[in-house]
Amino acid sequence: MRYQDLSYWLSSVDGPLTPRPGLPGDTDADVVIVGAGYTGLWTAYYLAAADPTLRIVVLEKEIAGYGASGRNGGWCSALFPTSLPALARRHGRDRALAMQRAMHETVREVGRVVAAEGIDCDWTAGGTVVLARTDVQLGRARSAVAEAREHGLDAADLVLLDAAEAAARCYADGVRGGTYTPHCAAVHPAKLVRGLAAAVERRGVRVFERTPVTALRPGAAVTPAGVVRAPVVVRATEGFTPALPGQRRAVAPVYSLMVATAPLPEATWAEIGLAERETFSDYRHVIIYGQRTADGRLAFGGRGAPYHYGSRVRPDFDREPRVFAALRRVLGELFPALGPDVPVTHTWGGPLGVARDWAASVGLDRSTGLAWAGGYVGDGVGTSNLAGRTLADLIRGEQTDLTILPWVNHRSPKWEPEPLRWLAVNAGLKVMFSADEAESRKNRPSRRAQAFTHLLGH
Ligand SMILES: Cc1cc2nc3c(=O)[nH]c(=O)nc-3n(C[C@H](O)[C@H](O)[C@H](O)COP(=O)(O)OP(=O)(O)OC[C@H]3O[C@@H](n4cnc5c(N)ncnc54)[C@H](O)[C@@H]3O)c2cc1C
Repeated sequence: MRYQDLSYWLSSVDGPLTPRPGLPGDTDADVVIVGAGYTGLWTAYYLAAADPTLRIVVLEKEIAGYGASGRNGGWCSALFPTSLPALARRHGRDRALAMQRAMHETVREVGRVVAAEGIDCDWTAGGTVVLARTDVQLGRARSAVAEAREHGLDAADLVLLDAAEAAARCYADGVRGGTYTPHCAAVHPAKLVRGLAAAVERRGVRVFERTPVTALRPGAAVTPAGVVRAPVVVRATEGFTPALPGQRRAVAPVYSLMVATAPLPEATWAEIGLAERETFSDYRHVIIYGQRTADGRLAFGGRGAPYHYGSRVRPDFDREPRVFAALRRVLGELFPALGPDVPVTHTWGGPLGVARDWAASVGLDRSTGLAWAGGYVGDGVGTSNLAGRTLADLIRGEQTDLTILPWVNHRSPKWEPEPLRWLAVNAGLKVMFSADEAESRKNRPSRRAQAFTHLLGH
C-alpha cells in the first residue's frame, strides 16, 4: 500500500510519508496512547504542553494520519454529533449551551495552535454555508435557526440567508436560501495531522509507527514488538476500534467517501463563489460536504457507502465506484459551471466511528487507568481537539470547565450483535436515500426518515 494513495490530501503533503521507526521493544511510560490521528496527537500535545516531564508514547499501526484524520473533508467545525436540542433534553439547557460554546471555542483554539506551532495546513476560517434548494430544505434551514435561538445562540452564531445572500456565498443551482455560521475553518486535513505529529515530537513525545496494538489492558498496551507499560492507556482508534479485542460493539465503522476535482479555472470559481473558502453543504438527509481547497479544487464528500457486516474495516471498502459516481453527479447538479464532465482527479474514503446512541464521548476510568475518546461520527476534526484538552485535564487530575461538560465519561450502549447491527445501519442509510429522492419529487418532508433518525437516537 502506498500511503499517498489513501486520499488527495495525503498525496499532496510536503515530503515523503516514510514511516517513523517502530517500537523497539518493551518500555515504560506515564501515558501510552493508541492511534496517531487527531485524537491521539491532540491528547499527547496538551499533556506534553502542560507537563513536559511526562513520558508519553504514541503507538500507531501505520503512519500518523493513516485513518480518518488524513482523509476527511477538512471542516474544522463546531458541529457536535448530538444536536443542541437533544443535548438540552438530556442535560438541561445550560449544560447543552456550555457544550456548544466549548465547540465554538475549539475552532478558535485549533487556529491558535496551528499558528503558534507553524503548522502550514491551509487554515482559512471562512465559516460554513448550508444551502436550501427546495421548499422542504428551506423549512429545515428556518427550523435550524429557530432552534439555535431557542437554545441561546444568536446571530453571531447562525443566520438565515435569503436566496441572494446564499447565492452570493455559494452559487449552486436552484438555491432558495440557507444558513451561515462563522464557526468553521477549511483546513488541509493531512497537513494538520502530519504537522501535529511533528509538533508533539518537538515536545518530547515518542511516536512509534507501524506498531499495531493487539491488546489494551489496565497498565499496558501490547504489540508484537513489545509491551508499553503505563498507568494510563488511551484508546484513540475511532473507526478501527472494533478490531481491538473486546471492542467489537463499541462503535460502528461507517464509511464516508470523497472526490476531488482538478484545480478549477478562475472563471469557474467566479461563477461558484466560495470566495472566503466557506465550507458548504445542503439540507438533504444524506450528508454531503465540500470545501474549496487552497489550490483551487473542489473536495467533496458524502455518506452512503454500505456498512460492512461484523464492523469490518478493510482497505477495499474505501472505494465504492457507485458512491464516487453519485458524488460526481451531485457535484454536477449543484454546480453546472463544472460542465457536463466534472473533472474528478482523486477518489478515496475512510471509516468514521458511530456510537449506538450517536453520542461522542471522552473519559477516563480512574479504577483501571483506561481512557478513550471518539464516536464523533463525521465531526471529529474540531471535536478531537476538545477531547485532547479534556483528556489532558482528566489524566492530570485537574477539575476544569472542560471536565464537567456533558459528554465527559458518558457511556454509550453497545451496538446490537449481528445480524441486527448490519440490518439497522444499512436500513437507516436506505431510508435516508429514499427520503431525499421522495422529497425532491414531492417537495415535502419524509416521515419515515424522521422516524428512523429518532430510532437511531440521532
Ligand atoms: C471521508 C471522511 C470525511 C470526513 N470529513 C470530516 C469533516 O469534514 N469534518 C469533521 O469534523 N470530521 C470529518 N470526518 C471525521 C473525522 O475525520 C474523524 O472524526 C477524525 O479524524 C477522527 O480522528 P481520530 O484520531 O479519532 O481517528 P483516526 O484519524 O481514524 O485515527 C485512528 C488511528 O488509530 C490507528 N489505529 C487503529 N487501530 C490501531 C491499533 N490496533 N494499533 C495502533 N494504531 C491503531 C489508525 O491507524 C489511525 O491512524 C470525516 C471522516 C471521513 C472518513
